[in-house]
Order: sequence, then structure tokens, then C-alpha cells
Amino acid sequence: MRNKKGQFIKGNITWCKGKKVFVGENNPFYGKKHSEETKKKIREKRKLQKPTFFGHKHSEKSKIKISISRKNKYVGKNNKKWKGEKAGYHAKHGWVNRWLGRPEKCMACEKDGLIKQKIHWANISGEYKREITDWLRLCAKCHALFDRNFIERERILLKCLINKNHEF
Ligand SMILES: [Zn+2]
Repeated sequence: MRNKKGQFIKGNITWCKGKKVFVGENNPFYGKKHSEETKKKIREKRKLQKPTFFGHKHSEKSKIKISISRKNKYVGKNNKKWKGEKAGYHAKHGWVNRWLGRPEKCMACEKDGLIKQKIHWANISGEYKREITDWLRLCAKCHALFDRNFIERERILLKCLINKNHEF
């Protein structure tokens, strides 16, 4: 299922999945058969659908970039507040762990088997949203980089995206 912009809507099952629409006589195609040529055409059409999907991914990437640049404005303007956010991280640490669990793998460098102080939940927006997409599971090293500056921040985010360990 796609929305008006042609983007996939999460959680929606393909329109035909599990449904018996257009079955038997209800199907206008009932009693007819696809010729080899038609089948080939359908296959070609399916191939052509791919770029639309890639385009979708790309726009998702752009979305991150927009959100990062917005955040950087905020960070640049008010450095004190930025420190406050960091302090807030520890306060909210508890519920994040309870809510999102404690995976042992870093989403950015894919290092595994990390526990306790070696792996953290890093917040992306600084708003500690109750959305999985607002959080990254990062090893201490990647988290330090993530907090260093917006260039590193973007690099880590893109790494997570490329590794397909995070959805935005
Ligand atoms: Zn890492």
C-alpha cells in the first residue's frame, strides 16, 4: 500500500495478500490465459518498478539529512542546552533500556557481543521520542563520534542506514 506521494505505508499488507479478490468468475480475466508475450511484458514491467523503490529509499535518506541539519542549528545556537540533553540521556537511560531492550550489536560498526558500558542507546532528535526510529544502538566508540559534531553524526547515521540496521 502506498500513500498519495507514492511512498509505502508501513504495516500495511499488500492489497491482495490473503484476500480472495478477483478469484474465479469475479476476475475479469476469468477463463482467459496470458500469452507468452503478455507474460514477458508483465515481467518487464515488474523490473521497471524497481527504480521507484530506490527513489523512495533516497528520499528517506534526504529526510535524515533535513532532520540532522535542523538539529545542528539548534545545537549551534545553544550549546548549554546541548549539554543538558546529554545529562538527560542518563536520566532517560532506564526507560529506554526497559522499552527497547539491550541489543549487544553496534548498528554503525556492527561490532557484536557488547554489554553494559560498552554499548549505549543514542538519541537522534534530542527529544527522546518514544519511536524506535529516534534511537540508535551504538558502541561507546561510535557513540562518542556521534556526539562529537554534525559531520560525524551524519556519518554514523548513514552507516546505520547502509548496514540496514536502522529504519528512518
Ligand atoms: Zn560501533
